[in-house]
Amino acid sequence: MNTQPAHTIILSPIEALDRVLVDRIRGELTKVFGFPVKIMPLLDDLTFALDRQRRQYHSTLILEVLDREAPPDALKILGVTGQDLFIPILTHVYGEAHLGGRASIISLNRLKEHTGSGSPEKEYHERAVKEAIHELGHTFNLRHCKDPACIMHYCHSVADVDRKSDHLCRYCRTLLKDEIERLTGR
Ligand SMILES: [Zn+2]
Ligand SMILES: [Zn+2]
Repeated sequence: MNTQPAHTIILSPIEALDRVLVDRIRGELTKVFGFPVKIMPLLDDLTFALDRQRRQYHSTLILEVLDREAPPDALKILGVTGQDLFIPILTHVYGEAHLGGRASIISLNRLKEHTGSGSPEKEYHERAVKEAIHELGHTFNLRHCKDPACIMHYCHSVADVDRKSDHLCRYCRTLLKDEIERLTGR
């Protein structure tokens, strides 16, 4: 009998989101991190995190609730929202995560801006997948990477997001592998 705890990543849509996109994110996360990814809405009302003056939601507060609401045996959690997120020192964030912790979140709000010449939907979905891997990567203890093509590279703009690839550089891949081995005893 397998006595290992259930190493499941929870993908938590915060409102009703594009199902095609949610499924795509789920598939890519499974590939990159190698754990089963379960879609499980954990909260739907973000009013507690709303800053009425900024008309944005404070991502740090949402992370705390995601962490609290997730099943205790969930390995990691990624919340996905269409709302615009911020932390007090920045005008906005594409996402936030507890470094080496459990919870992460991404905002799709600013990823829709159409800048390329291709399909707007393809462009938007690719950005969302990259940001999802990036934020979840932080929960696996990955920090920002200097390599501009690495998915752990910090992005100021959607142009930066478009420029980076959808995978980890060799260095980050090794760090991730070590972290997964540490977490699972594999
Ligand atoms: Zn980051
Ligand atoms: Zn890297």
